[in-house]
Amino acid sequence: MKNSGADELAKKMKVKLDKDNFPEWYSEIVELSGLVDKRYPIKGMNVWLPYGWELMRNIDEVIRREMRKTSHKEVCFPLLIPQSEFQKEADHIKGFSDEVYWVTHGGSTPLDIPLLLRPTSETAMYPMFSLWVRSHSDLPLKIFQIVNVFRYETKQTRPFIRMREIHFFEAHTCHRDFEEAEKQIQEDLEIMDSVAKELCLPYLKLVRPEWDKFAGAFYSVGIDTLMPSGRTLQIASIHQYKDNFARAYRIMYEDESGEHRYAHQTTYGMSERLIGAVVGMHGDNRGIVLPPAVAPIQVIVVPIPKKGMKEVVEEEALKVKEELAGAGMRVEIDLRDLRPGAKFYDWELKGVPLRLEIGTRDIEEEVVTAVKRNTFEKRKIPIKELLKSVKELLDEVQSELYSAAENFLKEHIFTVRNLKDEAEAYRGIEGVIRVNWCGDMKCAEELEVSLDKSFLGFPPEEKPDGPCAVCGGKAAEVVYLSKSY
Ligand code: ZN
Repeated sequence: MKNSGADELAKKMKVKLDKDNFPEWYSEIVELSGLVDKRYPIKGMNVWLPYGWELMRNIDEVIRREMRKTSHKEVCFPLLIPQSEFQKEADHIKGFSDEVYWVTHGGSTPLDIPLLLRPTSETAMYPMFSLWVRSHSDLPLKIFQIVNVFRYETKQTRPFIRMREIHFFEAHTCHRDFEEAEKQIQEDLEIMDSVAKELCLPYLKLVRPEWDKFAGAFYSVGIDTLMPSGRTLQIASIHQYKDNFARAYRIMYEDESGEHRYAHQTTYGMSERLIGAVVGMHGDNRGIVLPPAVAPIQVIVVPIPKKGMKEVVEEEALKVKEELAGAGMRVEIDLRDLRPGAKFYDWELKGVPLRLEIGTRDIEEEVVTAVKRNTFEKRKIPIKELLKSVKELLDEVQSELYSAAENFLKEHIFTVRNLKDEAEAYRGIEGVIRVNWCGDMKCAEELEVSLDKSFLGFPPEEKPDGPCAVCGGKAAEVVYLSKSY
């Protein structure tokens, strides 16, 4: 930890982070903060470093907790899918065929049936579902897995946001009928709310247009966050399949009257993009800022001794650390032989939500100095109230991160009422455009071209509040448009 650490740090300190240049900032920050190493020699596949992996596992745990609450059971399916099963649902293959990695040989022997690496697991799971689902008493079937999926991305890859190997959560359910599947989707949306609160990610919930729905779905709901660059990032999607896949894979059950019926299905997907959103949304020119609910280190304790006081101060700092650790907090102490400023720099870069500084005078006054990562607000807290105050401060960081992101989202949704008059003004604007739309594809195209943004989807809870922004005719839907990742 001596010289090499300091050298590394000095090298890092030369990097000037500039969040106004979002793509470059993002690309630097994910590595500088110790989340990933991008030097692995396959495009779109990075190495998870311990800090990044711990963050991902904490997020996974939030998801697992929600799954347990809603009676989903965790499974783990094989990575390989036979070509024959993959091909059963026509729309699904069309949607994924260009993105599939194939396994064609075992050693030098060609395989009888080529195998593919799962790009998602419908076609792996549903042949098994058809064996598992027999009677109405087998329903609902609610399972999930957290695994890696593989997609041959041809667009520019970006850590966490667009990868070829993706850390992926997928829930799959079977129900008796459409209505029960609809209730599942409501439950999924509630789960989304809880997960997003923990990650401090306010979002838009939009039904995707027909041409942008998931391959094989009846409809898809996209969950989008707005990045500081003004582009949206989809962080989750929820799909109503109706009985589309059940027909292809013969997932049938016998109802009470002995009649055989197709199951209705839903899926719910999230991925490491959640980290991409957290990094992008909350970070600043000093580094990433992690929500306390998922931060691998919630509190960093930094002793700042005067000359000759090293042992006394460190001992006091260790006591503070142990008290917090004893209460179940994720806390570490920085005893490295570095200047305090260099230590602060390091932990700010890594986005630790709360720093506790303990100096000689703090000990005399029986306080510690707390500094919030998001606002850099400093507060002296009495040692006697350590635990209570630290909990309060972490809660504050959590809610301040959420409100800041929520304000940003609200301030970047613009309603355009008359395309002809307003297109010029809104074309270059960063953010989301909201319009009333008549449903005509010609008007849709004109909106996309004039605003230089794409249809993101329809908010299920909003009704048109004026005529179509293009033709002035009666509006059928409210539409959100944006540029997206
Ligand atoms: Zn129109």
